[in-house]
Amino acid sequence: MNYPPGFAIAIDGPVGVGKSTVARKLAQMLQLTYIDSGAMYRAVALYNMRAGVSSADEAAIVASLPHIDIRLTPDGAIYLNDENVSADIRNQALAEYTSTIAVYGDVRAALTTQQKVLAAATPVVMDGRDIGSQVLPHAPVKIYLDAKPEIRAERRYRELISKGQKANRAQVLAETHTRDERDKNREHAPLVQAEGAKYVDASHMNAEETVAHIATLVQNYLKSQL
Ligand code: C5P
Repeated sequence: MNYPPGFAIAIDGPVGVGKSTVARKLAQMLQLTYIDSGAMYRAVALYNMRAGVSSADEAAIVASLPHIDIRLTPDGAIYLNDENVSADIRNQALAEYTSTIAVYGDVRAALTTQQKVLAAATPVVMDGRDIGSQVLPHAPVKIYLDAKPEIRAERRYRELISKGQKANRAQVLAETHTRDERDKNREHAPLVQAEGAKYVDASHMNAEETVAHIATLVQNYLKSQL
């Protein structure tokens, strides 16, 4: 498909709303490159967690940045210093660590720069917390994807169970709440509905319905440009 120069879809939203699933499917459907910005924050977290660095040690985490090389491949894998860490970055302890280090301004600055470079190279679907507000503020299609916290926590819980991980419903809900609060109230690039972003409530839509809804918004945008 031919897209106008600078074309990008920015999808932001809270924990467990299904952004990654929706963004990945949308990218496949529209032949765009999918960039999972959360996976990049998780890779920084994994490097430091493995090194035994406390998530509270901002100076050590910032000092680690030059030693971290992150690569995303077209098939959706993520490499940390040439090691495929796609599976290692998906667990609750790491998610918690990630949301703590994602508040640090220098961590955000480094990853934001890399994300802008990736989007400049090719038309993308990028999902995260600050894509429409900070990373790609000029993205022609911006979505704020939301769903009720109880519904998001239930989906997260089922996802963890289906992956064979141990999970507790009440704990997943509490962690969802904690991460939401941290993402929304941090000083640098808090989670907000970006200016010009369309609010999409996915509480009662499955992934396919959400993808179809966003694809219609994209088609409307592209038609308006003819
Ligand atoms: O989306 P995901 O759950 O993989 O993101 C992990 C964490 O990384 C989030 O809880 C959030 O704190 C942080 N993050 C961020 N900005 C982004 C993407 C993720 O702060 N653009």
